[in-house]
Amino acid sequence: MANNNNELSPEKIEYLKKELLRQREETLKELKLVEASLRLITQSELAGENSYDEEFADSGTATFEREKDLSLYENLRDVLSRIEKALKRIDEGTYGKCARCGAPIPYERLKAIPYAELCIEDKKKEEGLR
Ligand SMILES: [Zn+2]
Repeated sequence: MANNNNELSPEKIEYLKKELLRQREETLKELKLVEASLRLITQSELAGENSYDEEFADSGTATFEREKDLSLYENLRDVLSRIEKALKRIDEGTYGKCARCGAPIPYERLKAIPYAELCIEDKKKEEGLR
């Protein structure tokens, strides 16, 4: 075998691509649900602006739910864009390499997070900077 251990075989890339496509489906489904929920809350909030008999506690709950949905929405958008980028990298043939140092990302890491962009070392550095 001339293949380096760190090199991703076409079979492994194929597996990870399927994984990415499956996760994209799921993320899109969740996004639709959150979008629907956000729209409902926005509408009830808009309705609430014109009806002064609404309980104060109720509008507080709505705001809390909305903030939760908004941060979930942002997370999902973030994951979705990472998945899209990973799929693009597969097409370009740069998939599985660290975006910072170019080192191969271990297959085990990619199996856990197929849209990982950084090797573990660089990920740690990035988290350390935060
Ligand atoms: Zn790196």
